[in-house]
Amino acid sequence: TIYFIDGQFTERDGLKISIDDRGYYFGDGVYEVIKVYGGKLYTAKEHINRLFQSASKIKIAIPYEETQFMEIANELISTNKILDGHIYIQVTRGSSPRTHHFPQPAVTPVVSAYAVSNPRPVAAIENGVSVKTVEDVRWLRCDIKSLNLLGNVLAKQEAHEAGCTEALLHRNGLVMEGSSSNMFGVKNGKVYTHPVTNLILNGITRQVVLALCKDLGISVDEKPFTLDEAFEMDEFFLTSTTSEITPITSIDGSKVGSGQPGPLTVKLQKAFALQIPSFIMG
Ligand code: PMP
Repeated sequence: TIYFIDGQFTERDGLKISIDDRGYYFGDGVYEVIKVYGGKLYTAKEHINRLFQSASKIKIAIPYEETQFMEIANELISTNKILDGHIYIQVTRGSSPRTHHFPQPAVTPVVSAYAVSNPRPVAAIENGVSVKTVEDVRWLRCDIKSLNLLGNVLAKQEAHEAGCTEALLHRNGLVMEGSSSNMFGVKNGKVYTHPVTNLILNGITRQVVLALCKDLGISVDEKPFTLDEAFEMDEFFLTSTTSEITPITSIDGSKVGSGQPGPLTVKLQKAFALQIPSFIMG
């Protein structure tokens, strides 16, 4: 497998990473995951754009242009012969002896990337998954796609130990998002999801789904809803780059609607499939 680090493509075995990388010490960096369908990048511009935004919010100046990331990603896809999978890109503030404040003089950010084969989670997408409600104890800058994922990791683990696929995070009684996904409810034909604030990551898939709702004439309310309301939804689904649109059929063991993927969710899944040129549904 060929990896990209510090401006070079190298075999995994030859990879050298500094013990002083601030990614290790502080999770001081940002990342992105870009989906690959049929050997082609999907919504790559949007992801790379968000990488720059996340970096800028934590005052990291990425020493690359958008087009260079495109080239790196495409090179990783071709050398590693990836058909269906994803690209992981990470940028840390750089490598410097451990002090909390930024290194002075500034060091060059460490950019790394790799490609991995990863088939679509077809069973989950078709049959739906269960979620566990978990209190959101993360910090107040969830809009940044930061390497600091302890809150997300602990929430996912709690869900996993309960036999669930994802955690449904709630703060002050309101549904926020998943530990690695955005959350949507459907009630009386209307789609509800948390608005874009500092408390959630504005998912690229979330944005695709909202655009699809617009195209299909489905009304959307980007307004927080309560955990109590979540249990009353007719349908529920999550979105993410790798999970696409995954129906949620139970919350804390209680069925959502009929306990089957709902009709509006399925309609959105079909529309989602149609806008990926290389993609064959099911
Ligand atoms: N929220 C969080 C916390 C996430 O980690 C992710 C996955 N990146 C998402 C939402 C979904 O974002 P996207 O659709 O861009 O993958």
